[in-house]
Amino acid sequence: MNLEKFIANVSDFPKPGIEFKDITPLMANGEAYRYATEQFIEYAKEVGADVIVGPEARGFIFGCPVATELSLGFIPIRKPGKLPREAVEYEYELEYGTNTLCMHRDAIKPGQKVLVIDDLLATGGTVEATINLVKQLGGNVVGCAFLIELEFLNGRDKLQNVDVKSLIKY
Ligand code: IMP
Repeated sequence: MNLEKFIANVSDFPKPGIEFKDITPLMANGEAYRYATEQFIEYAKEVGADVIVGPEARGFIFGCPVATELSLGFIPIRKPGKLPREAVEYEYELEYGTNTLCMHRDAIKPGQKVLVIDDLLATGGTVEATINLVKQLGGNVVGCAFLIELEFLNGRDKLQNVDVKSLIKY
């Protein structure tokens, strides 16, 4: 299935000069959403994932159905102040300023094989922070999967020694 036709390109969102990839038409089409999810499920089996980790909020959209289909756990990565129990944190640089992501300290057991799923790989900052959180807890990232990869932003450069799969490339 050609998934690209279900992605809407929105100019100047959220800021002038940015072309935003809107995945909501894909999610709104049951066949396309299911097809994309199935690709992630196959990849999760291939890498032998024990647990799925997804950054808020769009990482939940694909990560959760993969986890339930394979009877695996799903671990949310969240912004500060959202997780109710003790969490590990990682701060990373943005073009202007910094961002912090958090994960519950007891979410991953040492040695667990983790698959990270998110909607889109841009600069790689989000997935790099996610991998760092998993590693802080002794988890082993066996793969990272994205619906969309913006290849011109070279996010993969931050993911050396990690297996990466993306379903749509720009
Ligand atoms: P990165 O950290 O620069 O790789 O940006 C990836 C994160 O930003 C992902 O969690 C995405 O959900 C979000 N993101 C960045 N650009 C877009 C876009 O064009 N469409 C949807 N999400 C985006």
